[in-house]
Amino acid sequence: MNEFGTPHEVWALAADGETVLLRPPGPEDRDRVLAMHHAMSAENLYLRFFGASQTSVRETAERVSTPGRVGCGALLALTHDGGEVIGVVEYNGDPRSGEAELALAVADAWHGRGVGTLLIEHAVTMARADKVHTLVADTLPWNRPMLRVLEDMGLPVRNRLVAGVLNCAIPLDGDIPSTERYLTALARREALADVASLVPLFVPRSVAVAGAGHRADSVGRALLRNLKAAHYAGTLAVLHPTATEVDGVPAFPTPDRLPEVPDLVVVAVPAEAVPALVEDCGRAGVRALVVVTSGGTPEQAARVHDSVRRHGMRMVGPNCLGIAQTDPGTALNATFGWVVPAPGSAGVAVQSGGVGIALTEQLNRLGIGVSTFASLGDKYDVSGNDMLQWWQADTRTSMAILHLESFGNPRKFSRIARTVGRTKPVLTVDAGRSAAGRRAAGSHTAAAVTPTVARGALFRQAGVTAAQTLGDLVAVAALLHAQPLPDGAAVAVIGNAGGAGVLAADACVDAGLAVPRFGPDLEADLRALLPAGAACANPVDTTATVDGKTLRRCVDRVLAAGHVDAVVLALAPTALGDPLGDILEGPADRGRPVVVIAPERAAAVELLPAVGGTVPVYGDARTAAVALAHAYERAMWLTRPRGTVPALIDVDRGTARSLAAEFLSREPDGGWLPPRECARMLGAYGIEVSPWRQAFDAEEAVALARELAPLGVDGAVVLKAYGPHIVHKSDVGGVRLRLVGDDAVRAAFTDLAYRVGALMESVVVQPMAASGVELIAGVTQDEVLGPLVVFGLGGVTTDVLGDHGARLTPLTDLDAHSLLAGSRGAPLLYGHRGAAPTDTAGIEDILHRLSRLADDVPQLAEADLNPLVARPDGVTVVDARIRLAPRHEQDPYLRRLR
Ligand code: ADP
Ligand code: MG
Repeated sequence: MNEFGTPHEVWALAADGETVLLRPPGPEDRDRVLAMHHAMSAENLYLRFFGASQTSVRETAERVSTPGRVGCGALLALTHDGGEVIGVVEYNGDPRSGEAELALAVADAWHGRGVGTLLIEHAVTMARADKVHTLVADTLPWNRPMLRVLEDMGLPVRNRLVAGVLNCAIPLDGDIPSTERYLTALARREALADVASLVPLFVPRSVAVAGAGHRADSVGRALLRNLKAAHYAGTLAVLHPTATEVDGVPAFPTPDRLPEVPDLVVVAVPAEAVPALVEDCGRAGVRALVVVTSGGTPEQAARVHDSVRRHGMRMVGPNCLGIAQTDPGTALNATFGWVVPAPGSAGVAVQSGGVGIALTEQLNRLGIGVSTFASLGDKYDVSGNDMLQWWQADTRTSMAILHLESFGNPRKFSRIARTVGRTKPVLTVDAGRSAAGRRAAGSHTAAAVTPTVARGALFRQAGVTAAQTLGDLVAVAALLHAQPLPDGAAVAVIGNAGGAGVLAADACVDAGLAVPRFGPDLEADLRALLPAGAACANPVDTTATVDGKTLRRCVDRVLAAGHVDAVVLALAPTALGDPLGDILEGPADRGRPVVVIAPERAAAVELLPAVGGTVPVYGDARTAAVALAHAYERAMWLTRPRGTVPALIDVDRGTARSLAAEFLSREPDGGWLPPRECARMLGAYGIEVSPWRQAFDAEEAVALARELAPLGVDGAVVLKAYGPHIVHKSDVGGVRLRLVGDDAVRAAFTDLAYRVGALMESVVVQPMAASGVELIAGVTQDEVLGPLVVFGLGGVTTDVLGDHGARLTPLTDLDAHSLLAGSRGAPLLYGHRGAAPTDTAGIEDILHRLSRLADDVPQLAEADLNPLVARPDGVTVVDARIRLAPRHEQDPYLRRLR
């Protein structure tokens, strides 16, 4: 049906969070489709068929349940158990014109719940794969629900009134369903559905614990104790085969025997008992599960996953510490940890329980507290992405903290983070763990990224504050919680003990902040305030003889002068007492961030109360400076213009996707695309590779060289050894340049065959390109953040120069521009010492096309254009490779559960 083969079943969330099953219909669905139509009201039927004809209904049922019609497709929405058809979408195309008629019907009870939108979203993806370029829906003008669905899609619908019927045309060709508008609309719908589906998990009306047996030291009993201690206000029960009561809580043998079906069941039974219990919960109508049990077999895992999906449940775990939520009215502590999250404003999601406990402890101690806590464990279902959506909607949450090995679908993560980050800081720890993954990749592009592209920059681009350690994360969280963001990088360092101030100033500079000298007025002002031996430039050393009041005045003057964006106070107790006390008698919020370094007062970080808030006090200068630098980076991210993703109207996504699918059906494990397919895939995205031909012996090479020589500089050609296992041709002596004449070509062929030996399968003949600046442009994948576009100085010196920048996709115009302007080769690109500037617009255009290709073809693991030769009159790609890897995701942005 599409290039991914038969689409399998997917589960997706309707707008109200209900899980529905989407799958293509088969002959056995005929009766269910009929049943849905028969149950439809006369009004609904009329809107669908413009008349309530039983013949149309029968024909529809027949048509959609007959598979394999070219250019046509149908998709059913069913209740999550697959029992009842609740919606049908179909498109019936004319393969010649590329137009297809779209029809949608949704069961009465499911109107207004987003099922129609979901079906059309999937139909759009299927129809595009079927090479349909326009979907046309004939709609009665008063069919408001249908018109609203079409409107909300975020696609540019063209309406025409023809003989009393609205003819709504949705163009699918070229760029449209990849536009930001469509993807943003999709993301908004997904967020709403996602949040709705998580309500029974985090705000359950009733909870049952399974696995709280007679032994008081069991995990289940600890869970029960925590639930009770947190004063859970809903109905609490225990699932136990024999007991009627555990720890004062009524017990029942199975979920269906409970007086009230619980929203949430917390599962702490042994691994072998989990699958059956989960299935029982689903049958009984339980909506959400937290599975703390670990150690299930893959077979058990598959059964659990299947039950969760079939019964439309959401699930946290397995192998986790549990979840907690501290809203006073609906407090829930379904963890078996001994640290109880205090009510507060940080959303916390962790993989491992230990980190969760440590973080909770720190946030409690700082008085930040926790709004929602989730230890996600093995993440069968609920992922970091779900948590981000939840926190975005949750008004109690003001910052999001994720400590996870992966966040969920990387492409979605970077999009969701960019949205959430606009309103709430998103914090994580990046231990650089994907370096090893990248090392495994073969190309220059991938290898280039490992040492030179700071991952911090990528997280920053996604609006994520990535600390290097858990300690640093807590240090930043404290600052973001207590103080305003700085408007810039200029810091004043004020100390009362010379050495400490200098250390603090150094730490600020190391962290990327600036410690600029003050202006003469401010210096004079401070000199008048401070004793004779004081240093009044920046850093300021007040000397140990000043009291706390004078120090405070000093801070006020510095801030009032307006030269700096933040103040770092390095304080030591003196014979005059502890100056910190006087500082804390002043206001906590001075409009710009103020942080204190006081090794005697704080181990790592503390938030000490001042007037109207708190002031962060750090135990060492480095931690304080790092926290401030992160706050500065966030402020810059928030104010930096976002740029726009240019629309590319001439990309042929269908061809690129079919090429990927064909290659992967031949090579299921993936690999490098052969030259012809590589050039075709790039060509589909408007990236032209320098002309080339493949020759299998010397005489063929000579003949092709004659053909290509007129295109080359001075009539010269290039010969390159080709073989599927040769990655870097120059490394094996496999490139011969500037060949003029038959003899030179013949000799070069023999030479290549001799040097490269059995690895060589054929040679590639190319015209010799005019010289210019050699650049590298490519795509690689970050396992956490998704595809990256990489750019830098290229050619065979790529690795030596180590000049590479990278940006997450989708690349905006500003991203592309900053990649060029920020590269070491910038002077060469923009014209240097009288040399003419190169075609920078042409280079940026290639970067945008690579970005789109990476986003449209999820199987694209790496692309490597190296070199790209840039000259004033244009850009020539003389060497290109693409590596594909199998992906089972159909469309990375399509709404579906994992
Ligand atoms: P590899 O990267 O596998 O070693 P390339 O095809 O990139 O092989 O060739 C290596 C170098 O040879 C390039 O960096 C470039 O300097 C030069 N070169 C390759 N093809 C051409 C060409 N058609 N015209 C001019 N120079 C070329
Ligand atoms: Mg190369």
